[in-house]
Amino acid sequence: MPPEIIANILHLEYPCNPPHLILPWLLDRLGLQIELWPLPDECSGVSIKINGKRYVALNAGHSIRRRRFTLAHEIGHFYCGPEEWRADRFAAALLMPADVIKVLVAKGKDRYKIADALGVSVDAVTVRLNVLGLTA
Ligand SMILES: [Zn+2]
Repeated sequence: MPPEIIANILHLEYPCNPPHLILPWLLDRLGLQIELWPLPDECSGVSIKINGKRYVALNAGHSIRRRRFTLAHEIGHFYCGPEEWRADRFAAALLMPADVIKVLVAKGKDRYKIADALGVSVDAVTVRLNVLGLTA
């Protein structure tokens, strides 16, 4: 199933605004716990299992918005499998649903305002707008 569809179905099960508020619900549902680790800069996060308990360790040096995307990416692996591109597509769709982005663009919001509204990085918004064939 395409990652975008999986993300949309999860949002139907747990409607929220902004969309990233779905993350605590998903953590709970998957029995995942977040850890902040001093990882090397090129490593955004890792999923690990210790004594049967599952953790997502996020890079403590990265911004909250970047960590949010990394967390959504790691959750994406649970729903979409091991491929990186599928986890990325899932994360983008989960945090920046197409219908929400389209409304913000229609309201004349630029990519910085959209990033603020959704709690994601401007870089993530820029990629998402390109994927959706939109400009802001
Ligand atoms: Zn990954």
